[in-house]
Amino acid sequence: MKQIFTSILILTSLISFGQNSTIDDLWKLYNSHDYKSVIEKAKPLLENEPNNLDLNSILGRTYTDLENYKEAIPCLDFTVKNDKNNSWQKAWALGYLGTCYYMMQKYDESEKSLNECINLNSTKNATNDAYVKSLLFGFNEFYKNWKIVETNNFRFHFQNMDDIEIEKYISLREKAFKEINVFFKSKLPKKIDFYVWESREDARRILRKNLGFANPDFCIVNTHYQQTIGHEMTHVISNYTSEITNKTRFINEGTAVCFDLSLQDRLIQVKNWMTTNNKQIDIKDYWKNGNEYAEEILYPLSGLFVKELLDNFGKEKFLEFFKSQTYENALLVFGDKLDKVIQAFENKTNK
Ligand SMILES: [Zn+2]
Repeated sequence: MKQIFTSILILTSLISFGQNSTIDDLWKLYNSHDYKSVIEKAKPLLENEPNNLDLNSILGRTYTDLENYKEAIPCLDFTVKNDKNNSWQKAWALGYLGTCYYMMQKYDESEKSLNECINLNSTKNATNDAYVKSLLFGFNEFYKNWKIVETNNFRFHFQNMDDIEIEKYISLREKAFKEINVFFKSKLPKKIDFYVWESREDARRILRKNLGFANPDFCIVNTHYQQTIGHEMTHVISNYTSEITNKTRFINEGTAVCFDLSLQDRLIQVKNWMTTNNKQIDIKDYWKNGNEYAEEILYPLSGLFVKELLDNFGKEKFLEFFKSQTYENALLVFGDKLDKVIQAFENKTNK
C-alpha cells in the first residue's frame, strides 16, 4: 500500500512538474514575443484543459498582442473570474481586457477593466501599466470637460475650442485622412482618437511627453491645435498599410513629414541648418543613426529624402520597402540605383 501511495505521489509530482515546466516554457516564448509558437503550443492544451488558469491567461495576452481581440476576451475573462487569489494573473488580464475593449471601441468596458485593475493593486507593474493606459485612453477626471466629436475616421477630443473652429478643424482632417489614405490604402482597426490640446504644459503634466505624438498601435494622436494637419495622422495611417517588421526613425519621420500637408520649404530649412551648424549631410549616417539627430534637422531632411525616394522609385516600390525601413532593405528593393539617388541628393543639398 505504501509503495502504491509513493508511486502515486511520484506520478502526480511528475505530472505537475511537467505542467509547470510547460507553462514556464510558454511564458518564456511569450516574453520573447514568439506569439505564433505560443498559440501553436497552448491552443491544443487549452482544448484538453479549458479550465486551466495559466493557459487562459497566456493565450488571452497572446491574442491581445496579436490584435485578435475577439479570441482574447473569453480567455482574459476566464482568468479574471477564476483567479481567486487576485494574483498578478488577474491584474494583467484586466489590463489586457482594457486594451481589447478600447480597440473594439467599447470605451466604457475598457475604462471599467482598467479601473478594476488599478483598484485591485495586485502588482506594481500591472497597476502602473493600467494607470498609464487609462491616461492615454482619456479615462481621467482631467478630460471630463473636453468636447468629443465623432466623424467617419476620427473621434476628436478638444481641450478648448469653439464650435465654429471645431467644424473647420475636423473637416480639414477628414479631407486629409482621405487624401493620405489614397496612397497607403490602410484599413485601421478603429477610428483615430485625436486629442487636440490647447496647452502644451497640460499635456506634459498629464502624459509626461511633449506634443505632438502618435501611438499607432492604439490609433491615438495627441497634438497641439496649431500643429500640421497630416504629420501625426500619417504615423497612424501608414502603420496599417502592411505588416511593418522594422521601423527606422529616418524613414518613419520622413514619411510623416512628406505627408504633413504643410507648405513648408524643407530644402531651405535644411540649408539654413547646415549654414548655422557648418555641417554637410551624410544620408546613410542619418538613416542608420536617426535617433542621435535632433528633430530640427532630421525632420526636414528625412521628409525631403522620402520625397526623393517616391519620385525616383514610385509608390508600389516605396510601399514594398516601407515594411522594413533599413538601408539594407532599401538596397534589396530599389537595387543599385539607390546609391546613385543618394549621391545626387547629397550633391544637391551639400553644394
Ligand atoms: Zn513624427
